[in-house]
Amino acid sequence: MSADDSALALLDPVPGRPGLKPDEAGRVAAEVWGIHAAAELLDGERDRNFLLTVTPEERYVLKAARASEPGERIALQLAMPVHARRQDASLRVPRTVPAIDGVHVVHRRFDERNHAVRLLRYQDGVALSAFGAPAPALLEAAGRFAGRLQRALADFSHPGLSSQDFPWAPQQAQRVVERAAPEIPAREDREVYGRVAATAEAGWTELLALPAAALHNDLNDDNLLLVSGSPERAAPADLAALDFGDAVSGPAVVEAAVTALYIAGRAPDPLEAAAAVVAGFCVERPLTRGEAEAFPTALALRALVSAGIAAIRSASVPAATAGSYLLTSQRFVWRVLAALDRAPQPHTRRRFLEAAGHGLSDVGRARPKNAAASEVSSADALLEARRRRFSRALSVSYRDPIQVVRGEGTRLFDEQGRAYLDMVNNVCHVGHAHPRVAEAIARQARQLNTNTRYLYRQLTDYADRLLATLPAPLEVVFFTNSGSEANDLALRIARNRLGRRETIVFEGAYHGNLTSLIEISPYKLDGAGGGPDPSWLHRLPLPDGFRGRFRDGDDDFPGALIRDARRRVAAAGPATLVSEAILGCGGQVVPPPGYLRAVYRAVREASGIIVADEVQTGFGRIGRSFWAFLEVQRGPGERPPLVPDIVTLGKPAGNGHPLGAVVTTRELATSFETGMEYFNTFGGNPVSCAAGLAVLEVLEQESLPEHAERVGKRLFEGLEELAGRYPTIGAVRGRGLFLGYELVTGPGSRTPATRAATALVNRLRGARILNSTDGPDANVIKIKPPLPFSLDDADHYLEVLDRTLSETT
Ligand code: PMP
Repeated sequence: MSADDSALALLDPVPGRPGLKPDEAGRVAAEVWGIHAAAELLDGERDRNFLLTVTPEERYVLKAARASEPGERIALQLAMPVHARRQDASLRVPRTVPAIDGVHVVHRRFDERNHAVRLLRYQDGVALSAFGAPAPALLEAAGRFAGRLQRALADFSHPGLSSQDFPWAPQQAQRVVERAAPEIPAREDREVYGRVAATAEAGWTELLALPAAALHNDLNDDNLLLVSGSPERAAPADLAALDFGDAVSGPAVVEAAVTALYIAGRAPDPLEAAAAVVAGFCVERPLTRGEAEAFPTALALRALVSAGIAAIRSASVPAATAGSYLLTSQRFVWRVLAALDRAPQPHTRRRFLEAAGHGLSDVGRARPKNAAASEVSSADALLEARRRRFSRALSVSYRDPIQVVRGEGTRLFDEQGRAYLDMVNNVCHVGHAHPRVAEAIARQARQLNTNTRYLYRQLTDYADRLLATLPAPLEVVFFTNSGSEANDLALRIARNRLGRRETIVFEGAYHGNLTSLIEISPYKLDGAGGGPDPSWLHRLPLPDGFRGRFRDGDDDFPGALIRDARRRVAAAGPATLVSEAILGCGGQVVPPPGYLRAVYRAVREASGIIVADEVQTGFGRIGRSFWAFLEVQRGPGERPPLVPDIVTLGKPAGNGHPLGAVVTTRELATSFETGMEYFNTFGGNPVSCAAGLAVLEVLEQESLPEHAERVGKRLFEGLEELAGRYPTIGAVRGRGLFLGYELVTGPGSRTPATRAATALVNRLRGARILNSTDGPDANVIKIKPPLPFSLDDADHYLEVLDRTLSETT
């Protein structure tokens, strides 16, 4: 049977449901859980459920699953509420009771088949279906509850979520609808069904293309209970959810649609009520514009599936056994179908876009109607809490800081659902929340996490894959948890070998936050709270042809610059050079042709050691060369590149998962084998390796280095074009998607315009573009977005920048 067929086979009512009797259920509860109570059969579509009453205060539900229920699906139903509650303690979701021996599921044979049996605490409360027409507060509370649950499940993943071959899975909707359409008994109903289906079909592809999330997928008004308070004044914390049996991975907007469908069907104006549920949902979990656009489709599809399954089942099963459970809600589902059929489509679309806080033309500017003052002030409250709990040494960007709740690709979303184009984050390298990386981390975390004192494949697999990107003789890897740790270890290896501390760095350079690295970072030493250079530190001037001592217009450029650097390197004697090939904190400075190789050679001639810090620039950001030390030594007239002795890695390696590395030669690694163990508790753990491996795979599969080169070129050319028109742009620099442009005070000036740079960054933030400043004078606008940054993003940026510059200069 194909997956498709098996999904539809489940349209048959309850295949394999255990014929367990109440007295048997009572016996299992006593035996396994030590609970002695009379059992009473409850409703249930797939499971066989029993209520066990020990005392009125102590009640349980015993659930025996269908024989065919996969173990993964049972495990999912256990794990999902646990995760949700851990994320948000206000969420009332099912609690499983461990058996006497501690397990949460036992297997018992009934009807000669194995059934998984578990025990839940009984959740007191009144099903929302009992309240008749829902009060506005109840609609909003239901929406907010669903949104809150969705937010709590944002980072939940589980193998059971991917099984989608049951008729309630959104992925099956279209198939169920096709199969059900001819079964709708009354002709008029059949016509309504057909029209709504035709409209929904048009939005189907867009709906399923939305990012997937973990869904409860059945927050109907029988599964949502009011536990406290009154329906007229209900708040989300007054509600409880039952039954995670239909949980599945699917678009988050489906969760809002399912919640809205059943409760709204009872309201005088179902679509108005559904809009109230959506608004509530968005207070807790804003819908993006794309998601909000898809809401009418999601609502229609669920209504069609619900009506369709009921029709198929009542056609194939005698009324007595069809049971009322599924059929009671049908009247209300049909009210929603009728309302969708009646309302003009643009009107419906507008209604739900507005409910989600999206204006028609203005992408995401309006905030959700119900995101009242409490939501707005939550950023203020967070800021205040930060002040109380943290040191002021921790900074936050922008005068009016951004509260981010979600990231996706090149976009960050704030608590109002507004999208920001992120051009700062060079850590989430292959895109925010990349599903493959997230999945690899989750999968590995579920399987094994340990340290390098054991043998496991992930360590060597990742090392092999990483080394394949680097030239010989770089062939030995040490894993760390950050770029700082990598640089610190590089210093230890180099200094151990040299027997001296002499270190050469560039002016303006930053190499990390550890004591050993602050000591070699002029960026920090020269700034507020800095200090004098250690006696063993030697600085090289920034090879900045625009504002350095040697300039690109000079007759002898870059010859004089190179001779100066060679002299300084020789004067330091055998020393460790720690340098980026394109200087990031120095202001995206690309050294002139021949320079880097000449400095490397001078270090070698002085018997020193070369450490290339690729923490910012590595992993394809600068294009196909993959590593900046290779890219910068390429070009017309360049000789074969000199390979550093040590390369240090960090930031992008794990796409945000803390992962760093030192890669070196066998010879240097051997010199570090002094007898002292190198042990790093977390460095190289299997989860980090899985993250790192996934990043390398995604880089290759999505051809991101090539993409960075192509988009970077377009952006670079666009910026140069703007520099031609706006004299405040003094210079444009960089490679791939590691670019920068320097703001100066006016035509022909090389005086840094620091204040103008800060003002520009703030204005761009107003246009929902995130940029940062850097360089010794903080007048360089840095561009280092996640690599999926597209040509459209580049054009959008150039257009907004053009407009902003034209307004301010
Ligand atoms: N080296 C360079 C060039 C960096 O830019 C940074 C961080 N900005 C580091 C090292 C240190 O990395 P981390 O903060 O991840 O330890």
